[in-house]
Amino acid sequence: MTTRRLFLRTASAAPLLGTTLTGCGGEGPTAEGRDYFKELGLQQFINAGEPYTSLTGALMPSEAVEAYVYASTRYVRLTELHDAIGRKLAEIIGCEAAMVTAGAASGLVFGTAACVTLDNDEAVRQLPDTTGLKNEAIIQKVHRYGYDRAIGYCGVKLVEVETREDLEAAINERTAMMLFNNTKDPDGQIKVAEFAELGKKHGVPTFDDCAADVPPATHLSDYLNMGFDLVTVSGGKGIRGPQNAGLLLGRKDLIEAARVHSPPSSRGIGRGMKVSKETMLAMYVAVESLLASDHEADWKEWERRVGFIGDEVSKVAGVTVEMFAPPLHYNVPHLRIRWDEAAVKVQPREVRRQLREGEPSIELRSSPDDCIELGVWMLKPGEERIVADRIRELLAAAA
Ligand SMILES: *Cc1c(COP(=O)(O)O)cnc(C)c1O
Repeated sequence: MTTRRLFLRTASAAPLLGTTLTGCGGEGPTAEGRDYFKELGLQQFINAGEPYTSLTGALMPSEAVEAYVYASTRYVRLTELHDAIGRKLAEIIGCEAAMVTAGAASGLVFGTAACVTLDNDEAVRQLPDTTGLKNEAIIQKVHRYGYDRAIGYCGVKLVEVETREDLEAAINERTAMMLFNNTKDPDGQIKVAEFAELGKKHGVPTFDDCAADVPPATHLSDYLNMGFDLVTVSGGKGIRGPQNAGLLLGRKDLIEAARVHSPPSSRGIGRGMKVSKETMLAMYVAVESLLASDHEADWKEWERRVGFIGDEVSKVAGVTVEMFAPPLHYNVPHLRIRWDEAAVKVQPREVRRQLREGEPSIELRSSPDDCIELGVWMLKPGEERIVADRIRELLAAAA
């Protein structure tokens, strides 16, 4: 009952905004008067940064929260739910097959395990011991990143290459998979389409980690259409689903093989990465909402927010602002603020600290030391005014 009342209130509070631009509201207590975070002594904040894991990801649209609550009051068979949601997701995304995972990092584990074990049931029980199995994954050296530890969970080792020739020479009968870190595409010598093509040419499955590269929603299927066999995406970043959800998308035989590793069975490598019915259903609804959203309208709204904050803070003499959109990772409008430290006598690092420690607390995106950078897509409607005022005040006080 409580949650229902909350939905109605927040839904009517922001009737004109697209679903991807709203969280489901609420700073204060519930209708029953509980303020859980306050009771726990936790400070809330305004997210003028990104859906970082440490900041608990994105806020879910209210329809995803409603789905979460719906699932929490009903029993359903886990395998049947997995099947049904996988089918639906594949249909609406436009790919062969799909499964909800416990995040993109979990998607990396399931996808890798699938490439190693395929339909070999003995092998499923054997992992992470890969004796007698394919146990190498090829990656470009500059694509190496923290999340590639997930490959090692399956007993698979990474083989680093730099050029097309290196890659072709590295492929052998033990090659299970080729991994691409989508965000790093500009840095590698082998670009995304060529990487997919090389996998096809040699009959090796290719896997693209696009965790933070949605929106645009088209990225859910673009890389599969390009020829990748698997793609994983975070649920709690740009898709705005539950933070502990993700998607593994791609070839039907591989998704089926991945599912063998997932609960309810306890014989696969993924038993510790269970996805609850609540998370699964909310994730499905979050994807629906993303696909139904108007990306151009959202983009314009983000630009408007960037413009608003930029106009306000550049009223302080010596401050310059710039709008930018990172090419792949969090590809939405952002604001960069710089100032002449002779005129505004405070270091960017200090402004960041004051924003975090102020009231309300404001978190920014991480940035180089000579500026501050803001994301505006995680703001609740209207928060751009608070953010603009705080930053302008802090800079003006140092001018
Ligand atoms: C965030 C991220 C992940 C992990 O995603 P989770 O959904 O938090 O598991 C993996 N790869 C990249 C490139 C990421 O940015």
